[in-house]
Amino acid sequence: MKYTIIGSGSCVPNADRNSSGAILEAGDKIILVDCGTGILHNIPKTGYDYTSIDIICITHLHLDHINDFGALLFAYCNDPDCDRKKDLQVIGPIGFKNYYRGLKKLYGESIKPKNYKIKISETEQSSFDIGKLKIKTFKTYHTEESIGFRFEYEDRILAVSGDTGYHENIIELCRGASLAVLECSFPDELNFEYHLTPSTAGKIAEKAGVKRLILTHLYPIAEKYPLIKQCKKCFSGEIEVAINFEKYII
Ligand SMILES: [Zn+2]
Ligand SMILES: [Zn+2]
Repeated sequence: MKYTIIGSGSCVPNADRNSSGAILEAGDKIILVDCGTGILHNIPKTGYDYTSIDIICITHLHLDHINDFGALLFAYCNDPDCDRKKDLQVIGPIGFKNYYRGLKKLYGESIKPKNYKIKISETEQSSFDIGKLKIKTFKTYHTEESIGFRFEYEDRILAVSGDTGYHENIIELCRGASLAVLECSFPDELNFEYHLTPSTAGKIAEKAGVKRLILTHLYPIAEKYPLIKQCKKCFSGEIEVAINFEKYII
C-alpha cells in the first residue's frame, strides 16, 4: 500500500499544513481518506487523478475533514474532461447521509452525478471486503459519530485514527499496524480530552505494538514543541511528523 498525506493540519489556517486528507493506494484501488478544506485542489500534487478515486472514507463530520466533498462532486459535474462512470463508494459515519441530503438540497443539479452512482455506507464499527482489501471501522473518542479506519491488504496494516482522544478502542484500531497515522493536535503541555498529544499517541502505538508512527493533524501551536521527543518517552518504534505529499510505503 502507498499512503500520501495531502493535509496534515487542522481547522486553523496554516500555509504549510492543509486540513485533513490523504490518498491510499491499495492494489488497484484509490481511496481518499477524509476530504477537508483545500484537499481537492491539492490532489494533483500527489500525482493521482481526482477522477480515479474509487472509495472515500470519512472519519467525521467536522468541516476540516469533509468540506471539500461537495466541491469534489461539483468538479466531477463541471469538468469537461471528467467522464466518470464507475460508482463512488463512500464509507462514513452515522449522519453522513443526512449531510449529503443537505448538500443535494442546496446544490441540486450542480453536484448531481451524471453517469455514476454514489453508494454511501454509514457505519460505526464494521468491516468491508473490497477485493483483497479489508477496511475496518472503529468508533473513536472525538464526536458522537466519529470513526477511524484500519486498512488490511495482504500482510500489511494501516491504521488511521482521524480525530480522537485517548481510548482503549484506538489501541484495538492500531493493533499490530505496520503504520499508524495518529492525530497529534496539541503538545503534551496542552491536553484536550478529545484530541491526542505526542505522549497519548505514543502510548496508544506502544500498547498496540505499532511498527511505525506518523503524527498528523497538527494545530499550529503544536509545532512550537518537540513532538518527537515527547512521543519517544512513550513509544519505542519509529516516529515521524507528517510531511505533506510524502508517499509512505506500507
Ligand atoms: Zn480535525
Ligand atoms: Zn474533529
